[in-house]
Amino acid sequence: EKRNPGQVEFIQAVREVAQDIFEFIEDKEEYHEAQILRRIAEPDRVVSFRVCWEDDNHCIRVQRGWRVQNNNAIGPYKGGIRFHPSVTESVLKFLAFEQTFKNSLTGLPMGGGKGGSNFNPKGKSDSEVMRFCQSFMTELYRHIGPDTDVPAGDIGVGGREIGYMFGQYKRITNRWEGVLTGKAREYGGSAMRPEATGYGAVIFLQNMLKHQGQDVEGKTAVISGSGNVATHAAEKIAQLGGKVLTLSDSGGFIHDPDGIDQEKIDWVKEHKTHRRGRISEYADTFPNASFHEGARPWGVACDLALPCATQNELNGEEAKTLVDNGVIAVSEGANMPTTLEGVDIFHDAHIMYAPGKAANAGGVAVSGLEMSQNSERVSWNTDRLGDLLQDIMTDIHAQCAQYGGGEGDNYVNYVKGANIAGFKKVADAMLAFGVV
Ligand code: NDP
Repeated sequence: EKRNPGQVEFIQAVREVAQDIFEFIEDKEEYHEAQILRRIAEPDRVVSFRVCWEDDNHCIRVQRGWRVQNNNAIGPYKGGIRFHPSVTESVLKFLAFEQTFKNSLTGLPMGGGKGGSNFNPKGKSDSEVMRFCQSFMTELYRHIGPDTDVPAGDIGVGGREIGYMFGQYKRITNRWEGVLTGKAREYGGSAMRPEATGYGAVIFLQNMLKHQGQDVEGKTAVISGSGNVATHAAEKIAQLGGKVLTLSDSGGFIHDPDGIDQEKIDWVKEHKTHRRGRISEYADTFPNASFHEGARPWGVACDLALPCATQNELNGEEAKTLVDNGVIAVSEGANMPTTLEGVDIFHDAHIMYAPGKAANAGGVAVSGLEMSQNSERVSWNTDRLGDLLQDIMTDIHAQCAQYGGGEGDNYVNYVKGANIAGFKKVADAMLAFGVV
């Protein structure tokens, strides 16, 4: 805390991971001597810079940009860029630290990083966003590169922003190279990237169920959100013979007792992304469904729960309701959707619980495969990428089960498993490098 004054989010994240790691390294002298955890918790570097741009009224605006390069022991730094007024150095350090473990779990050669700015793209014109992105990249370009640091999108940074930043990088450097991921298909983006996070969360869930001798077929699922992750998670559940009962947005949730099948999911995708509609209108289109304004879906009885909207959207009380209603497994498509209290309740009740760090790693995994395709100057097809995603998620599950398994029963603490498995690979690489 003395070293990182006021960085509440970062300190909390390190503390949580440290508990599991201390237990693991207790009898492993080499990690202690080399101070490995301390070294992972001290970013390789934090670059902070001024981003100056002109708004549509010709006023000069000044924002702060950052790139946190946490650790590149196993590959180039990799992690998203976030544009949101809540962005601070502490938030980005926390995210870069977590990203190091998530990327390690994918088995691909990617280190951990994160970046962003306190710029708010909401309410800005396209030209304002373009000018901001160009100014941001005019500084960032000197710190990144296909073998150095490969940023991606995150909150407030979608296809439009990636396009503007990639265009500026290309213009300044005169190089077409895979320096950003999340690109559109026309200029080097990967097949399966839109589906990867939602599909991956369900593949992880499928593996958890298999570990306990069960499967998705015939089970009911409650899903929150109706964006990219939620709709693809719903699609995969439906493909595997499960029945999706709910979807939501920031206005409330819809409950469809008939099940949300592929045709209805396609309607939601079109409605939310292209028509920018609200999920409430689902109930007008499909009359057996009901809309619950301002509420979250966790009160609907189900076998499986997939929080896929946002952080802290499932609290202790809601976790208890899910448990009381007989939920058997929870897989997080979103980042940190369950509060710490909720996680404790799932663990105490021995519910299969997959943290986002492991369950939503499919997104960054396919981003890693986008880097491979760009380096090779090729474009792999959907089938090949789907198979690779399946293998990667199955392998992440196996790693978590190896390090998070208890003694005696089949129960796995996936949080502990993900922390230790993610740590071990990075730590072993750092040991090999000596004191650097
Ligand atoms: P989208 O923007 O596509 O969708 C987000 C969804 O969550 C929307 O339906 C949105 O509703 C809803 N939502 C947002 N805030 C709230 C809230 N306060 N209460 C209820 N619902 C809310 O985002 P993604 O699907 O891409 O991301 C969802 C989560 O998954 C995030 O936590 C993200 O960090 C995480 N994630 C995403 C990855 C990816 O590949 N996309 C990779 C790894 C993690 P509304 O339309 O009303 O805003």
